[in-house]
Amino acid sequence: MILDPSCECANQKNLLDDIIKPRLSSLFIRVYDFFTYYRWQFDRANVDPCMEPMDILEKLPFMTKSDYIMLESDAFLKADRHLFCVETTSGTTGRPKRRFQSINDEINEMRLATRVFAGFDISKDDVVLFMDVGNPSIYIWFAKALESLGVKNTIYYGIQSDFDRSLKGIIRLDPTVIVTVPSLLARSYETISRMYSENKETNLRKIVYFGEKINNSFRKRLEDELKVEIFSHYGGTEVSTIGGECTQHNGIHIYNDVNYPSLIEPKKIDETIYEGEIAWTTTQIDVQPVIKYRIGDVVQIDYSACPCGRTSPRIKVIGRTDDSFSILGEKFYYDTILNAVYSDINETGFMQIILSTEQKKDKLTIILPEKIKSKEKEILSALYQTSELEYFLSEDFILIELRFVTNDFFSNRKIPSIIDKRIY
Ligand SMILES: [Zn+2]
Repeated sequence: MILDPSCECANQKNLLDDIIKPRLSSLFIRVYDFFTYYRWQFDRANVDPCMEPMDILEKLPFMTKSDYIMLESDAFLKADRHLFCVETTSGTTGRPKRRFQSINDEINEMRLATRVFAGFDISKDDVVLFMDVGNPSIYIWFAKALESLGVKNTIYYGIQSDFDRSLKGIIRLDPTVIVTVPSLLARSYETISRMYSENKETNLRKIVYFGEKINNSFRKRLEDELKVEIFSHYGGTEVSTIGGECTQHNGIHIYNDVNYPSLIEPKKIDETIYEGEIAWTTTQIDVQPVIKYRIGDVVQIDYSACPCGRTSPRIKVIGRTDDSFSILGEKFYYDTILNAVYSDINETGFMQIILSTEQKKDKLTIILPEKIKSKEKEILSALYQTSELEYFLSEDFILIELRFVTNDFFSNRKIPSIIDKRIY
């Protein structure tokens, strides 16, 4: 279902002139007044916030994750009495990033999530089950967005590392839609596949995933074996929901009336497709908006018409730019682990992370120089106390091992900082 055809099916040129440009202008004037960071960037680029918005967008620099931290104090002041919530996520260098939201932000973002869920053809008769291992807050938010579509039957199903035992109740609940992160589905798939093959009278029709890319062959397996249609919900903490896949399953439609894309050094693939690192400008976010913000994804963006009737471009995420990896939907940065490992030692040294699958779990092997082997106990204890890792280690979702190698391992050749050998 297309919830807002006036935007989603509009002629893109008219949408740009009538909706996108006025929203960009309003954003530029707003941020110039309120944010020291933006005023500095505008002045440095020699642009006036009242200029033609596409010219401004062109001239302003791309924004990084460390720039985002510079918005915090102004955003907090801007929220003032309208502060609704604060979201904290792990930062690239171990320092958490904070996002302040007003009630207006909450309402606008939820409206967009509702449009995206409508695009998955989810309707009032569906039973939607959210499956995850940790904090349910994003699912509570999804449930509210679904309620706007008339969906009353939403269930949060928290599972433990013993999949056979903790997934038992799913068949009885008989969801028509499961919303989850791909790696959790992959780790627990043996159990899920067995449960569904033993219970043929179930009604599961769709799987919605978010938070990570899905492995293509695993996706095909899910479609063939569980006979489900698969949809991607795409977004990020600083930008909220950006878009979702339609029933044509050929990329993620971006809702560009509220999230405007820019590509860094775009490469033309063919007449309608461009490839590059994507950056977002959020026109609907009130308290802590971003302009040309790099969320770290490399995408292909397709401007051709989609048979579903939507006119917005579609993206396919093809890679990441930063040194990060995801475990069961939670993002970890190389630098966070590096800071934990070397927290007790005077100087920072080398480290390599190898990700693998062992006993249906993600295993983190941390390769370190032999000269710090005497600190093994302290290093392990620092890792166990890292706020991002603590929950996953104590609940037995991941395994960790330190491996020490001769010092020349790191100096003899250029080695990648992260190697991902996990099985999907
Ligand atoms: Zn479409």
